[in-house]
Amino acid sequence: MNENKLKILELPKVVIEEIENISRIAGYLWTREWAERNAGNISVNFTEYFIGYKIPNMEKVACTLPKEVGGMVLFVTGTGCYLRNLIDRIEEAACILKINEKATAYSIIWGGKQKGFKPTSELISHVKIHYENAQNKSGYKAVVHTHPPELIVLSHHPIFKDEEKTNRSLWKMCPEVRVFVPKGVSCTPYALSGSEELADLTINGLKHRDVVIWEKHGALASGENVEKAFDYLDVSNKGAKLLLMAWAANFEPVGLTDEELKGLEIFL
Ligand SMILES: [Zn+2]
Repeated sequence: MNENKLKILELPKVVIEEIENISRIAGYLWTREWAERNAGNISVNFTEYFIGYKIPNMEKVACTLPKEVGGMVLFVTGTGCYLRNLIDRIEEAACILKINEKATAYSIIWGGKQKGFKPTSELISHVKIHYENAQNKSGYKAVVHTHPPELIVLSHHPIFKDEEKTNRSLWKMCPEVRVFVPKGVSCTPYALSGSEELADLTINGLKHRDVVIWEKHGALASGENVEKAFDYLDVSNKGAKLLLMAWAANFEPVGLTDEELKGLEIFL
C-alpha cells in the first residue's frame, strides 16, 4: 500500500469513500473531454463528517471569506491543478481544508501535496454556494464546474439569450432531460472567471435551476454528491448535443409535444 493510501485511511470512512468517488468522476470529466489542462474545479462540503473529529493544529493561511462560512471543512481542487490528476494523484491536486471560526484563515488538513499548492481561485464562489446550500438545499454537498463542449456551443447561440426557450428546446429532445434536469438550466451572461459577479450570478441561478451555464465558458452544478452533480451536467449536455446534431443536419427537431412533456411530470 502506498503512502497516499495510508494517509487516506486516517480520514473518516465516509470521507475516504467520497474522495474515491471524486477521483472516479474526475476520470469521467477527463475522458469526456470536459476538463482540458487545468479546466474545472470540484468541491465537497465535508463539515458534518468532521464533527467531533480531532484535527491537529496545522499551519494557517490568511484569507478573506464571508464570516458565515467559519468552521466549514471542504474538499477542494487546487488552482492551476489538472483535474485528470485527481484520477491517480488526488492528494497532490486537491486538498481538504478547514476554515477557522472567524473565516480569516484556513488550514490544509489533508492533501495539497503539489509544490506551491493553493486552493482553486474560485474558492469564494464555492464556499458561498456551500453556505447557500446549507441554508436552502440541505443535503447538497457537492459543486462541480467543468467545460462540457455542447453546453458551451449552445451558449454562443442566440437562443441562449432566452432562458425559457433554451430550456424548452433542451427538454423536448428526449424524456430524460425533462425528468432528470427538472428545474432546467440557468443561462448566465458572460462574466470573468473567479469574479464576485460570476459567483453571485451562479448562486442566483442555482436558486431556481439545476445547472448554471456560464456563457462562452462552461457549466456548474450542485448535487447531493459529486456523481449527482455530474448527472445534472451530463443529462443537460445530452439535450444540447442532440439539439446541435439536429441543427447540424439542417432540420429543426420536432421535439416532444407539450402534452408529451406534461405526461412526464408524473416522474418529477
Ligand atoms: Zn472554467
